Amino acid sequence: MLEEMMEVLLGLPRYFWNAYALQNDPYSRRLSHAQRNRFAQGARQEAAGIARCKKEIYHKMTVSEILAFHGISVWEMPPAEWGQKVPFAIFEEPSLICIDRRNAECCQHLLEQSALAYILKGHSVEELLLAHELYHWFASKGETPFTRKNHVLLWKIGPFESRSQIPALEEVGAMTFAQEFLDLGFDPFILDLPLTYCHSTELAQRLYDRILNLWQTIEGEQHVR
Ligand SMILES: [Zn+2]
Repeated sequence: MLEEMMEVLLGLPRYFWNAYALQNDPYSRRLSHAQRNRFAQGARQEAAGIARCKKEIYHKMTVSEILAFHGISVWEMPPAEWGQKVPFAIFEEPSLICIDRRNAECCQHLLEQSALAYILKGHSVEELLLAHELYHWFASKGETPFTRKNHVLLWKIGPFESRSQIPALEEVGAMTFAQEFLDLGFDPFILDLPLTYCHSTELAQRLYDRILNLWQTIEGEQHVR
């Protein structure tokens, strides 16, 4: 079952994952689909550039070696209450990453069982999650000016105005960074499904349905245009 779902997700275009990432962002709701896509593409371009640059700097170092080199600690995620939705990994400033290793290993195992491990090109799910978090560390050091820019106008009165960042853009950047840094051919947002599946098959089914719904909505809008 998971294999068929994954095949469908692997066939979705990149702009779909932009919409997926930004759909729940409170600030991006003020933007049109075209604007969201433009900002997401900007975040992707910036993150891909950072990944290329870092690959040259850290020549052949693994993600774990880079984290250790910068004194970034990696801890096991504290156990969650049953049924509670937990992140797969998180970065806490200034230099801590918490990761749910058991979940990452379960996801790795699932991909191997479903003959889908080839998409990782020899990397592990854990390495991919750590690469994602490494990007958040670079972002915290001010290396992602576009992604952290205050893009959204909240209000404007005469010469005064208030603008906000779009937090979900940093997730788009982190996924793009992980993809480019590890030379993967798929959008890492796809792993949300098997990672959720390890947590709860029911939640994974609901996530899959939500993804398909969103895809139908986006496709519908494209036909209207
Ligand atoms: Zn993240």
